[in-house]
Amino acid sequence: MTGSSIRVAPNLPQGAEGDASCVRLRMLTQDTNPPSDIVRLASGLGSKTYTRTCLTRPEPMEKFDAIVVGAGPAGSAAAYGLAKAGVKTLLVERGKAPGHKAMFGGRIYAYPLHKLLPDFEKDCPIERYVTRENMSFLAEETALNVQFDAPKLASGASASFTANRAKFDAWLAKKAEDAGAMLITGIRVDGLHREGGKVAGVVADHDTVKADVVVAADGAMSQIARSAGLLGEPEPREFSVGVKETIELPQKTLEDRFNIDEREGAAHVFAGYASNWLRGGGFLYTNKTTLSLGLVVSSEDLSVTKTEIGALQDRFRKHPAIARLTKGGKVLEWSAHLVPELGMRMVPKAYADGLLVAGDAAGFLLNTGYTFRGVDLAIASGMAASEAILRARKSGGYSASALAVYETLLREHQVTTDLETFARAPFYLKNPRLFNLYPRLLNEIAEKVYSIDGRGQRRLMDIALEEAKAGKVSAVKMLLDLLGGARAM
Ligand SMILES: Cc1cc2nc3c(=O)[nH]c(=O)nc-3n(C[C@H](O)[C@H](O)[C@H](O)COP(=O)(O)OP(=O)(O)OC[C@H]3O[C@@H](n4cnc5c(N)ncnc54)[C@H](O)[C@@H]3O)c2cc1C
Repeated sequence: MTGSSIRVAPNLPQGAEGDASCVRLRMLTQDTNPPSDIVRLASGLGSKTYTRTCLTRPEPMEKFDAIVVGAGPAGSAAAYGLAKAGVKTLLVERGKAPGHKAMFGGRIYAYPLHKLLPDFEKDCPIERYVTRENMSFLAEETALNVQFDAPKLASGASASFTANRAKFDAWLAKKAEDAGAMLITGIRVDGLHREGGKVAGVVADHDTVKADVVVAADGAMSQIARSAGLLGEPEPREFSVGVKETIELPQKTLEDRFNIDEREGAAHVFAGYASNWLRGGGFLYTNKTTLSLGLVVSSEDLSVTKTEIGALQDRFRKHPAIARLTKGGKVLEWSAHLVPELGMRMVPKAYADGLLVAGDAAGFLLNTGYTFRGVDLAIASGMAASEAILRARKSGGYSASALAVYETLLREHQVTTDLETFARAPFYLKNPRLFNLYPRLLNEIAEKVYSIDGRGQRRLMDIALEEAKAGKVSAVKMLLDLLGGARAM
């Protein structure tokens, strides 16, 4: 393989012969493995999402206007916007297909899709529209629930839906391809190529592919943003660990159990016992015939208490309130992933000479405890990135100062505005009392309120004051926590 260069095929129609200059092809099947030795003749491969390695003769390297690293929601949205405007765009994904490596809870807020692809509902792989929101405080055997039913949330700009990421990411990447972007999969970008100190392409497998501008959309641990010096070394306090299992249920059982019709879905968040009182919580989303059940827990707390996230999930699944919802279900898959928690603070500047950072790679994730937003911010920031590149292109170059318009566009797409509105949330959610003391307290109060044993019923206020007085928390602390919550949320 010496002297080879990554050479990317122009879009090949199904079954077409490869172009004469590139006669051999190497497919990489797993990003963690060295390239497999599968070397095939290019003809008859019938897909445009392959990487070719030209071994026969040196050729001038193909150059792109833009390279997008990562075909997650951020990368595909950016590639779509660029390709649609006629920018020669390469979208590189390390997984063997877009979405192959994706993992998330299950709900996508639809508003950026209305802008990006106004008719997205025609073919977007939507599982269910969320019309029932639930928040539960769990104690050892009890659960205090708040439920909000909103059938009107199934349509319009504020709709949200559950989705399977393997299908959703593949769908969005296909939109980018259809718009003219070239997608290659099974290739991990190792770093940036620089010319005169400016980013001028990417390096993958010791080869260089040049481009005028690069978008790093490579997710929470972004190697690209790190290598550009925009992201520091990861610290446990900046991340939570997410775990999810997909549980299969017959469709009728699922709809009866959650009291939803075939189009509707339910979303649940759980605090307290769910995370074994550690900072974090649980979630459950209904798909067509599966449930997504999981936890997001502070990695700092997990390491201090030497807790295994898998053991925590087993314990959570066995809680009576959860066991009732998942009864008879079959676990189909299990996955774990990191969640960046400090928002924009992780990447104070999301652009440099020839480079933009989008989605999780830039820390664009917003967890308020009752809403969890990552995919919508990823799509919106991908859109902002493509628009910034188009504007910089008009102005004649991709210097950091030309790309600084990205900041304005992130505001216009409500990415950084929402993150700023909730800038205090990550710090407020570091208060352990929210995950330990209050869920217990609320359950104890509820238990007393609903236990009528003939020994005289007491008023709710008296019970609450008695519980607080029992030394569990001082009135001052409770008031401060309440005020802190009101300001942060
Ligand atoms: C447990 C959990 C639950 C979540 N629940 C929700 C939820 O319910 N709703 C929600 O909106 N968000 C949720 N999120 C967050 C959401 O998953 C992310 O915010 C979202 O996926 C970010 O999209 P992205 O495109 O920025 O990054 P990603 O989706 O991570 O995509 C990055 C892509 O880049 C590829 N890649 C990485 N490195 C390279 C490389 N070097 N070369 C080539 N390709 C590379 C990856 O394979 C991947 O396909 C959850 C996250 C977790 C962990």
